[in-house]
Amino acid sequence: MSLKRALIFLGPPGAGKGTQAKQIAKNCGIPHLSTGDMFRDAISRGTELGKQVKPIMGRGELVPDDLVMKMVEERLSRPDCAQGFVFDGFPRTLGQAAQLDRILEERGFSKPLVIDLAVSEDKLMRRLTGRWTCSLGGEIYNVYDAPPKRPGICDVDGGKLVQRLDDRPEVVKERLAAYERQTKPLTDYYREKGVLETIDAGAGVGEVNRALRQVLNGDKRS
Ligand SMILES: [Zn+2]
Repeated sequence: MSLKRALIFLGPPGAGKGTQAKQIAKNCGIPHLSTGDMFRDAISRGTELGKQVKPIMGRGELVPDDLVMKMVEERLSRPDCAQGFVFDGFPRTLGQAAQLDRILEERGFSKPLVIDLAVSEDKLMRRLTGRWTCSLGGEIYNVYDAPPKRPGICDVDGGKLVQRLDDRPEVVKERLAAYERQTKPLTDYYREKGVLETIDAGAGVGEVNRALRQVLNGDKRS
């Protein structure tokens, strides 16, 4: 399965975006790109951009668009991106989306294909608030879908299971609402351009991957 196209994944927390994006990149033999990985790589290599970004990330602040775009443009100019690539968690803003369009055009790419992984709020709440982690070994359980044998206790090492602050219902609700607010303009932008494909990501990982591959194969024929 070859792509020769930029693929962009959008999806709320709990939709399995990272898992699907990595799997599709592997299926297509193209790089999986996330700006977080790019920044960490630039920092560890000590590049000029890395030096600029390090203190910003160190303070836990958002990296400004111009630095993000410099990093993305440099990354896309490398040979491994010539056959296409998968973006995971980028673009985040309309400004970034418009600049990405310009870069793609300059590099002779056609319009990106944007995959929106859709999951009902009920299902997302269940996936996210059901997640409990072992305080000893880090094993992850879902009290609804993959519960431990004894409630609150890890099957592997008997460690106590704890819920991350991020996974508590009131925090999850806020995370989902924030995602909606941030992403609505982006999905509108790509829908207007006719490049948005919505995939039902409420099913299991394998089933969603099959649906994605179907969309990509259909896309190649058109
Ligand atoms: Zn454990």
